[in-house]
Amino acid sequence: MKGRTHSLPSFSNWLNKGFDLRAHAAQMADSRIGPEISAASVFLALFHGFVFRLPSFQQLDSELSHSYLQQWIGAERSFHDDTLRYSLCGFDLAPLESMLVDVNRRLKRDKAFDDGRVQGRLVAALDGIELLSSFSRRCDRCLERRVTLKDQAGRKYEETQYYHRAVGCQMIHSSVKPFLAIEWIQPAEGEDTAALRLLRRLPDVYGSRFFDILLLDSLYAQTPVLELVQEIGWDAVISLKQNARDLYQSAVRLFAQRPPDSRSTEQVDHKTYRVQLWDTEGLPFTIDNPEPVRVVRSEEVLDRQRYRQGEPTEYSTDHEWLWITTLPQQAFPAAIVRQLGHSRWKNENNGWMDLTKHWAFKHGFLHACRHRPKQTAANGEREPVPNHGLAAVTLILLIAFALSSAFVLRHSKLVRRDHLTAIAVAAQLRAWVSKGPPSIRAPS
Ligand SMILES: [Zn+2]
Repeated sequence: MKGRTHSLPSFSNWLNKGFDLRAHAAQMADSRIGPEISAASVFLALFHGFVFRLPSFQQLDSELSHSYLQQWIGAERSFHDDTLRYSLCGFDLAPLESMLVDVNRRLKRDKAFDDGRVQGRLVAALDGIELLSSFSRRCDRCLERRVTLKDQAGRKYEETQYYHRAVGCQMIHSSVKPFLAIEWIQPAEGEDTAALRLLRRLPDVYGSRFFDILLLDSLYAQTPVLELVQEIGWDAVISLKQNARDLYQSAVRLFAQRPPDSRSTEQVDHKTYRVQLWDTEGLPFTIDNPEPVRVVRSEEVLDRQRYRQGEPTEYSTDHEWLWITTLPQQAFPAAIVRQLGHSRWKNENNGWMDLTKHWAFKHGFLHACRHRPKQTAANGEREPVPNHGLAAVTLILLIAFALSSAFVLRHSKLVRRDHLTAIAVAAQLRAWVSKGPPSIRAPS
């Protein structure tokens, strides 16, 4: 039965050869002093927890009772989820961040981003995501908002909700779609501030602009974002909605006066899209910044069949989309801008969504964890180290996500031969741990 399933040693061999997993693990550090279980072992434990798609810390805790997994992650004994939490709360984020960058640069070098290019270009998207929310548990980095709720009698009342939100930048044109970086929104700042910080940081850490086209949602239709994108040398496709009122209205007014520039019909599964496109250059971006921009509008009628009392009946829905773009008309006709605009929207369904649904992302890991290592503050008092738990867990998740997808989509021959899903591969790797290692002793 040799070669029928994936084994942890073969996965690990691929990780070490191609991505220096063990060398990166050795760089990991945390705030504990002289710990028995190293930060490298904690990192490898959680990394494998995500690779195996374990649903919780408790589940990882029970897997760690297998001596084979202990040996695999370089721990001399089993340890529990309290050790994981205590280590991760004070985890050093820098080695995790540089590992994520290194993984992505190696993926690029290995041509992982060559498939799916759009007119030869590499495409990334920026999106915000809420990571967790709570009415009771809070930490000093929580964002806050007032939420209206209803009591049992249906009376409305307000309560403060605490939550965490981040902005992530993800490659999206290729089959492997790793995140390049993540930036946390700090209390009292807007999502756009965090996004600008992230975009500025990208070329610094990657040493190049790394991708060519950036897709953004309508929140980012603003001058500082457009200027930064152009300064770095990216092209942009930005959703245009009514929040950018002047540009939106002048585009709608202009297009209403003339027939579409093109019409087409597109068949996707059982759906038919009738698409009309308008395309113009030279509309002023804002009153304060009248730099001319190109706007593309798509009016789409979606025809579907649905069954009413057993009878198939046609019904249609209308959709309107507008995008601002810096891409030139000649190389990127309106149909391609539309395709790019929609791929950002799809990203909401298979970027973060995939992580929250299939990677146990929203588990409130370590949020508001009070049991943390202590350090001496400037005033000489002992105080808990800043809580890095959520940020550390998220980075380890993004590293595991990038490497697992690359293994499944690019490396594994078994996946192609047996048409395995990524979840099935995770289950095969996990099963290896409980089977235990093959005996290394010679048979008597
Ligand atoms: Zn918090």
